[in-house]
Amino acid sequence: MSGYHSPQVDVPIRLNTNESPFPPPESWLDELSEIVRSIEWNRYPDRGATHLREVIAARHGVSVNQVFVANGSNEVLQTILLAYGGAGRRVATFEPTYQMYAQIARVTGAEVVSGERRADLTLDEFEIERVMGMHSPAVTFLCNPNNPTGLVEPRENLRSLLDQATGIVVVDEAYAEFSEWSALEMFSEDLPMAVTRTFSKTLSMAALRIGYVVAPSWIIENLEIAALPYHLDSFKQAATVAALGFVNEMEDRVSVIKDERERISKFIGNLDADVWPSGSNFILFRPRSAGATVVWNALLKNGILVRDCSSWPRLEGCLRVTVGTESENSSFLSALAEALSS
Ligand SMILES: *Cc1c(COP(=O)(O)O)cnc(C)c1O
Repeated sequence: MSGYHSPQVDVPIRLNTNESPFPPPESWLDELSEIVRSIEWNRYPDRGATHLREVIAARHGVSVNQVFVANGSNEVLQTILLAYGGAGRRVATFEPTYQMYAQIARVTGAEVVSGERRADLTLDEFEIERVMGMHSPAVTFLCNPNNPTGLVEPRENLRSLLDQATGIVVVDEAYAEFSEWSALEMFSEDLPMAVTRTFSKTLSMAALRIGYVVAPSWIIENLEIAALPYHLDSFKQAATVAALGFVNEMEDRVSVIKDERERISKFIGNLDADVWPSGSNFILFRPRSAGATVVWNALLKNGILVRDCSSWPRLEGCLRVTVGTESENSSFLSALAEALSS
């Protein structure tokens, strides 16, 4: 196997990993220094992260035993696959989608079965039926909005997955705040559905490594068996509780990013390129006449890094750009216009 790579180049404008372009609020940083002093550093952390889970549960109107927290939503996905994947089990994805599902599933020894999207990268109901009927996966992943396409999944697709699921369905909502709907609307203790969230994107805290899942308590119990004891350190637990006090402030920034997203999409749509409608904080597009890697290099020469997806299966010729600050986006758009016209 080879590892998962997201190449980092040291450039002034980084629009390649879907982070927030804004730092977290100053007042949170002030609270952090007090938190550092209040921690009993000689003691193990609260293993159940009880207070943190209470605050998250309250945010979503669920109970504490329906929440599990980990070091980034990637660790949540890993814990789900340790509990529900493994040798002799199948894990289903609908490609193209976030690559870590298949990567982690294979590491646990599970067999990965891939559903295919249409040429326009939307998912049709017959493909869902085919994959679920033929493979009875133990875990099925649906990323909504989908990374790297940015497309919002229709509710009917999730309903149809849940109707046919024999195992659990994981809805990865890393970009939920930018989207039109959330699977949490359908959440219930009786439904085999787990919904994952992260602090890395909207909440401006990719450096903190924190993510969580809302799921029925019978799923959470299994995740707790698979997780390492004390995997969440005391500082992180307290820092995240403090961060949750600023959620409204963070969510105010979502509308700024959405406005910029619309500006970028419209602009690219008027260039020699095809662009997919996005419900997230990034945009997938495909230059028509110019080669994607040529465009990628031209942007890099201007100090702008985007994600080159052109070698990924099913994404031939595609690039993905994260929405940045207004001025970063303007620099990107003028460099892109130049690259596509030369
Ligand atoms: C960024 C991303 C994640 C990873 O989130 P972390 O919380 O930083 O581990 C998970 N899923 C998708 C679809 C992502 O794009």
